[in-house]
Amino acid sequence: MGIKINKDLCTGCQSCLSVCNYGGITIINNVAAITDECTLCGACVEACPVGAIEIEMEEIATEGVDVSQYRGVWIIGEHYNNKIQNVVYQMVGKGRELADKLQVNLTVVLLGSKLEEELKELSQYGVDEIIYVKSPILKDYCTELYVNILTDLINKHKPEIVLIGATPIGRDFAPRISKRLNTGLTADCTGLDIDTKTRNLLLQTRPTWGGRIMATIRTPHSRPQMSTVRPGMFKIPEKIEKQPQIKKIEMDINEKDIITKIVKIIKKEKKQINLEDAEIIVAGGRGVGSKENWKIIEELAKKLNAEVAGSRVAVELGWIDQDRQVGQTGKSVAPKLYIACGISGAIQHRVGIQCSDIIVAINKDPNAAIFEMAHYGIVGDLHKVVPALIEELKRLKSEEELKK
Ligand SMILES: Cc1cc2nc3c(=O)[nH]c(=O)nc-3n(C[C@H](O)[C@H](O)[C@H](O)COP(=O)(O)OP(=O)(O)OC[C@H]3O[C@@H](n4cnc5c(N)ncnc54)[C@H](O)[C@@H]3O)c2cc1C
Repeated sequence: MGIKINKDLCTGCQSCLSVCNYGGITIINNVAAITDECTLCGACVEACPVGAIEIEMEEIATEGVDVSQYRGVWIIGEHYNNKIQNVVYQMVGKGRELADKLQVNLTVVLLGSKLEEELKELSQYGVDEIIYVKSPILKDYCTELYVNILTDLINKHKPEIVLIGATPIGRDFAPRISKRLNTGLTADCTGLDIDTKTRNLLLQTRPTWGGRIMATIRTPHSRPQMSTVRPGMFKIPEKIEKQPQIKKIEMDINEKDIITKIVKIIKKEKKQINLEDAEIIVAGGRGVGSKENWKIIEELAKKLNAEVAGSRVAVELGWIDQDRQVGQTGKSVAPKLYIACGISGAIQHRVGIQCSDIIVAINKDPNAAIFEMAHYGIVGDLHKVVPALIEELKRLKSEEELKK
């Protein structure tokens, strides 16, 4: 791999110099030149306004595994209480895109006992095939069974890509399977794409170094390419008319053969909806000013039947619990409406709200970065704007009640 400068195109504008943190590029005789310090990070390629810089990718030799034997994109369908989790639908949208680029089938694999109704729903999202492994014992998640059954299925069908939700359950079984298959696993991906330049490798992007940089990881030497996918990163696709092929495998599993047994499932008491599933979110940041002031964020949320969330600063100041933090090191959300109050819109916050349908930002600084991505922006003091919104909502509600 190396960097090539097209001397005919280069104008010596120095845009590449300002983005290189390593002194890896210089200008000689008004033309860019690569130095020994270059780390091949690619920042200059993106910065060049005339496309004069190019990274040359080598064909990567794969050792040991015959990659041509592997075909297709698989999604492992997690469910709870016989309900397929949202992250599965989100992965279906992204998986369809990857499968189309590779011109292969998109398959969802489900292990369960009473998923017939859910199969009907899942069938409407553009999947080519559903493999449904059915047994009464698969009603609830069991590490051992998931690992054994999925490893066998992957060995038999040889998909080239396997996507799993980065949920507590997915994080439990995915690494065990990747170990058994002797393949790589990129955990907690926030972006996925296909690199057509290097034999259709999966580009798996995830935050690293505590979220300071985004790393794109490839798994060239082994198959399948396995990733866990962060919930809330991708949109649930539109329903389409396309019936998938359903392969049902009835499994006769003897309970005695399983070492671990689920004795009891104790549900955690939960007053709030998961942020990832919320339809409306009212979020506050440092601009709210104090814990006392935080009450107006909660009041607005109550009026809208919304969930409350916060920026990392709001969490650090103790105004809201850590599990309500939105952003790169918090939750990625995809509500219909996200109202950001007194949040500046740092990149680490924005990355967590990019899948929201409508973003409304309230900020007193007209130049706040949040306005760059907001659909509606209110420039003003949130301590005046939020109470005014609450009053308006109250007025609308009483008008509605009068009409009844
Ligand atoms: C590795 C790493 C990971 C991170 N992960 C996350 C993450 O997951 N989530 C996250 O949120 N951040 C994260 N951060 C922090 C992020 O960089 C920002 O520091 C943080 O998002 C800022 O929070 P804020 O917008 O509440 O505060 P500030 O940036 O201080 O912004 C406050 C805003 O409120 C406005 N304001 C002030 N008073 C009022 C008022 N009366 N009315 C209206 N507006 C007002 C100001 O104009 C300002 O824009 C991370 C940082 C790092 C380095």
